[in-house]
Amino acid sequence: MPDKDAKQSAIVVGGGPAGLTAAIALAAGGIDTVLAGRRPAANDNRTTALLAGSVTALATLGVWELCADQAAPLKTMRIVDDTGRLWRAPEVKFEAQEIGLDAFGHNIENRHLVEALERRARALSNLRLIENEVLDIEPGERAVLLALKSGETLQAPLVIGADGRRSLCRDAAGITVEAHDYPQVALTVSLRHSRPHHDTSTEFHTPSGPFTLVPLPGQRSSLVWVLDPLDADDLIALDDADLSDEIERASHSILGKVAVEPGRGRFPLTRAKARRFARSRIALVGEAAHVIPPIGAQGLNLGLRDAAAICEVAVAAHKRGRDIGGINALAEYDRLRRTDIGSRTLAVDLLNRTLLTDFLPVQGARGFGLYMLDRIGPLRRALMREGVEPRASQPRLMRGEAL
Ligand SMILES: Cc1cc2nc3c(=O)[nH]c(=O)nc-3n(C[C@H](O)[C@H](O)[C@H](O)COP(=O)(O)OP(=O)(O)OC[C@H]3O[C@@H](n4cnc5c(N)ncnc54)[C@H](O)[C@@H]3O)c2cc1C
Repeated sequence: MPDKDAKQSAIVVGGGPAGLTAAIALAAGGIDTVLAGRRPAANDNRTTALLAGSVTALATLGVWELCADQAAPLKTMRIVDDTGRLWRAPEVKFEAQEIGLDAFGHNIENRHLVEALERRARALSNLRLIENEVLDIEPGERAVLLALKSGETLQAPLVIGADGRRSLCRDAAGITVEAHDYPQVALTVSLRHSRPHHDTSTEFHTPSGPFTLVPLPGQRSSLVWVLDPLDADDLIALDDADLSDEIERASHSILGKVAVEPGRGRFPLTRAKARRFARSRIALVGEAAHVIPPIGAQGLNLGLRDAAAICEVAVAAHKRGRDIGGINALAEYDRLRRTDIGSRTLAVDLLNRTLLTDFLPVQGARGFGLYMLDRIGPLRRALMREGVEPRASQPRLMRGEAL
C-alpha cells in the first residue's frame, strides 16, 4: 500500500516527447513525479510540425524558449495534386493570416525538441529522471508497482504510459488496440536547397501517398515521402547525389537545387488506436494511445494534447486532495480524449485511402472536396481553425493557462 506521500505522486514511463511533456506538466503542477525511460534504439531524424496550440503549451511549460530559435514558422500550406489522374484536384493554399494567425505552427527537428524538454525537466526539483527500462508493471487497487531493469522498484497511484507504439503500460492495463498496417513506408530526410521556402510547406499528393516538404530555419527543409516499401528501399540505397536528384525531380524543383543531409529514416505506415485510453490507474498518451500516418501533422500534436489533458485532470484532483489515478480521474481523461483522437484518426485514414484508391468516384470526391475548399472561403477557414485548434478538445495548457 502506498504511503501518504506516494498517494500524490506519479510515474511516467517513456522519455519521448509525449512522456517528457507529461512529466514536466505534472511536476510544474505540484505533483512529485518520476520519469523512467530507456534511450530510443536509433537516432530520430524526423521533424515535427507543432501546431499553434502545442507551441503555446510548450511556452507555458517553459520549454519553447529553449528551442524556439531552432524552429521555422509555417505560414502557408499548399496541397498539390500530383496523382496524374483523370479527376485531379486544384491546388489549394491555406494562409495562416486568413484566420488571424502569424503562423499555423512551427517545424522543429525532434532532436532539438527532445533536448529542450530534457533541459526543462532537469530544472524541476520535484521531477526525478531515471534512464532505465521498465520490465514489469503490476496495477493494484491503490497503486501501480513497477520493476526497473536496474532492480529498483517504484510505485504510484497514477502511471502515465508514454512508452510508444509497443506499449508495456497498455498491455499491463489490459487495453487492446485496433490496428491496421498500410502498404506504405515513410522515408524521412532533411535537405538544403538553393531557393527559399518562404515559410511554406508543400504537400504533393501522389498515387503512392503524400510527398511533403516542411520548412526548417534557413534554406533547409524536411521531407516526408510516403511510398511503396520497395520503392522506398531503392531510394534509401542510393548515394546522396542520386537521392538528391530524385527528390529534386519529385518536388518539381520548387526549392531549386537540393542536397540531402546525413541520416535517413524509414517508418512503415500504421494506424492504431487503443480501445480505451485509461484503465487500472494507467493513462496512455502519445503513440501508446494512437498511431496515425504522417499526413497533416497530427500525431505528436494529438500526443501533446493527451499529455496536457491527463495532467490537467491529475493536477485538479491533487489540488482537491482526491485520488489522482482513481476511477473518476481516469474516466474523465478517457472522455476528454475520445472525440479528438477518434476524429483525427478517421480523417487521416480517409485522406490516405483516397490517395491509394483506383476507384474513380472516390478520386472524384476527393478532387471535389479540395475544389470546394479552394473556392469557399468560410469552409476553408473553418477547416484551418479546426486543424490548428480543435473545438472538441483544447486543454488549458494549449490555451496558455498554467495548471
Ligand atoms: C515520418 C513521420 C513524421 C511525423 N511528423 C509529425 C509532425 O510533423 N507532426 C506531428 O504532430 N507528428 C508527427 N509524427 C508523429 C510523431 O513523430 C509521433 O507522434 C511521436 O514521435 C510519438 O512520440 P511519443 O513520445 O508518443 O513516442 P516515442 O517517441 O516512441 O517515445 C516512446 C519512448 O518510450 C521508451 N520506452 C518504450 N518502452 C519502454 C520501457 N518498457 N521502459 C522505458 N522506456 C520505454 C522508448 O525508448 C521511447 O523513448 C510523425 C511520425 C512519422 C513516422
